[in-house]
Amino acid sequence: MKKLLLTFWAVLAFLSLNAQETKITSPDGKMTVIVDLENGKPFYKVLYDGKTFLDKSPLGLKTNIGDYTQNLKISASNTSKTEKQYRLKNIKQSLVDFKASLAEISFEQDGKKVMNVVFSVSDRDAAFKYRLFPKGETRVCVIEDEVSGFKFPDGTTTFLCPQSKPMGGFARTSPSYETPYTLDAKTGTNGWGNGFTFPCLFKNSSNGWILVSETGTDGRYVGCRLLNKENSEYKIGFPQPEECNGIGSVTPAMSLPGETPWRTITLGSTLKNIVETTVPFDLTEPKYFNNTTFTYGKGSWSWIIGMDPSCNFDEQKRYIDFSAAMGYQSVLIDAFWDRQIGYDKIKELADYGRTKGVGLFLWYNSNGTWNDAPQTPIDKMNTSSNRRKEMKWLQETGIRGIKVDFFAGDKQQTIQLYEDILTDANEFGLLVIFHGCTLPRGWEKMYPNYAASEAVLASENLHFSQDFCNNEAKNATIHPFVRNTVGSMDFGGSALNKFYNADNQHGTKRMTSEVFALATAVLFQSAVQHFALAPNNLTDASSWAIDFMKKVPTTWDEVKFIDGYPGKYVILARRSGDKWYIAGVNAEEKPLVKTIDLPMFKAEAQVKLYSDDNSLNGSLKEVKTSKKQQVTITIPCNGGVVIMK
Ligand code: CA
Repeated sequence: MKKLLLTFWAVLAFLSLNAQETKITSPDGKMTVIVDLENGKPFYKVLYDGKTFLDKSPLGLKTNIGDYTQNLKISASNTSKTEKQYRLKNIKQSLVDFKASLAEISFEQDGKKVMNVVFSVSDRDAAFKYRLFPKGETRVCVIEDEVSGFKFPDGTTTFLCPQSKPMGGFARTSPSYETPYTLDAKTGTNGWGNGFTFPCLFKNSSNGWILVSETGTDGRYVGCRLLNKENSEYKIGFPQPEECNGIGSVTPAMSLPGETPWRTITLGSTLKNIVETTVPFDLTEPKYFNNTTFTYGKGSWSWIIGMDPSCNFDEQKRYIDFSAAMGYQSVLIDAFWDRQIGYDKIKELADYGRTKGVGLFLWYNSNGTWNDAPQTPIDKMNTSSNRRKEMKWLQETGIRGIKVDFFAGDKQQTIQLYEDILTDANEFGLLVIFHGCTLPRGWEKMYPNYAASEAVLASENLHFSQDFCNNEAKNATIHPFVRNTVGSMDFGGSALNKFYNADNQHGTKRMTSEVFALATAVLFQSAVQHFALAPNNLTDASSWAIDFMKKVPTTWDEVKFIDGYPGKYVILARRSGDKWYIAGVNAEEKPLVKTIDLPMFKAEAQVKLYSDDNSLNGSLKEVKTSKKQQVTITIPCNGGVVIMK
């Protein structure tokens, strides 16, 4: 009898242990997230189509008011469903239907509720965040470590951008998310020793793809990176101590109750879900409403071809005329305008621009005390009093927006500075572009006057380095699958000059075709784009290329993945109203020949085809889709293709 009783208790204990497991399934039933405890330590797993995409991966926070990574019990698990529709005018998809299964799992320690983990599981994305609570009279805490892990199955390969060491590079301005990607690499390394910048792309053998990132980051947390723990296991990392000239803590502080940003995991059997994900925006809400109706759109900037000396009155006036001739909405005037043009003459340019329907963006140095970047204007954006005084002048002068450069990494105080600049700029009706900066984390939705961030090895490198020109096509096939999937990317590209020089005869040489330039105007997305075009292109570039660049939209209603592989080639489709643009580029030596399905066009429909011959000579032809709604395309190395109706 005694033995029987023991067995009975053992079964009951097993049942109650298993009853703790929370299983969250996506609306389409394909993705499953399992959350459970093992010896008091919480973990989660992610499966897709029955295959493991993330194995048992740790959850938990170590704080200065308690270690919430162990000795935990699950006290409650509430599951629900959510369905909402929202508008997103400035990135990827203008109207989003979001459906997800939710779970909020409460953990207790010594009989007291200490932490909740909230999970959201949609058809494309799993995401989680932590909620912490006051402890007695303690209403603030410091997160000393976040153990949130990502344990990939064996055989996973990586497509990652290494985090650079702090206080390095030009004028000690790193890290600014400007390092080259390593493709098809094994797990188990830490890049250049400092982990990796978000978003991070992984390939789960032949089962599919996984993109790890974060969203909802504001002045209440730090910007995180991904660190390799060992083998195929990664974890969340905080900023590096030397960032921001060593000033400030690497650990985030939080008022209680409080919550962390979301950790997002986008996955699928192909790259489709990753290209089309809206997870950074599904899980965030606007932090304020816009004070003005902001004009996104296209513009030109002299700096990419003419560098610092071009930021003078006459050249900027010429670029205003050029933008007007292109039907563009703006001109971006880069560094040193305060010295080389002056505040009074800027007003004259702004007035002149207004007569031509062209607004101005002005460049600023974010410093401050965080690096040695000498470019001016400086000391205008780092303190509230200076910033608001400057922005008042910007508003009175009728300036459209600002481009703020040379930020200080990812510590909480720097993230707060981004938020403060955006918030003040909104009040003064200004759009904001960030350069030399961190990745935007849901900011398109959170801050309606946010325009774009660089956070990529951008077009300036084409001016500085022939090697970068030689690899332009390869890099262009990476960003649509990684960097640009989660946020606006201010690349400043689509050059039609043969050389990155005002005389168009010297300097680094563009190796890619004109059609390639058109294709990247579609592939790279940012609601405000300042293209690397020059006034001489009105007469020295192909007329079909200039006509295309006049009309190409910068905001889109939809994006569809067609085909591609990071580092090899990419073909995507974007829709603006009822117009579809199919764009592709190829980096592989052998010409890419593909028959692609175009269900957006009828069978035997007449479409425009911009394409290159084997010598990269481009042309515009009219072709017909097949009876099966297909078109066969050929893209030579460094060439491109665009199909539209
Ligand atoms: Ca830069």
